Amino acid sequence: MSESTRQCGGCNVCCASMKVTALDKPAGVECPHMTPTGCGNYENRPEVCRTWYCMWVRDDGRVFDEDERPDKIGVFFSADIEGEPVLYAHELEPGSSQLPEAMETVERLAQFLPVQVIPSRKPTTPLTLNGKPVPDAA
Ligand code: SF4
Ligand code: SF4
Repeated sequence: MSESTRQCGGCNVCCASMKVTALDKPAGVECPHMTPTGCGNYENRPEVCRTWYCMWVRDDGRVFDEDERPDKIGVFFSADIEGEPVLYAHELEPGSSQLPEAMETVERLAQFLPVQVIPSRKPTTPLTLNGKPVPDAA
């Protein structure tokens, strides 16, 4: 199987969307280390920042097109393959999963696996799915 060679490039949306416990950064809040040119704490970034990547980056081109980069379509994807497999489509902004570009990708993936849309996170909004906490992707 070929390895992905994708880079995040101009995308940095998960640095704002995801909770980073090691930095005491809540979900939905921009990381203080974000800069216009990438991570300003790159050498010392937490382990989770070194190891977690969304599905678009991990893909070798067989699932996602280049132009489906998260910042371009309004959602990024993670997967839970323990138990019943499910894909999570994380909104970047409230309602961004309803954008045509996002819906096209979600509907295509939903032909193969269930897709759960995760609403745009706000620091004061607990993230739950079916009444249970959604595992942090970062
Ligand atoms: S959402 Fe994906 S492509 Fe965008 S910065 Fe995070 S890992 Fe990179
Ligand atoms: S430390 Fe860097 S990689 Fe980690 S969330 Fe902050 S800006 Fe992103």
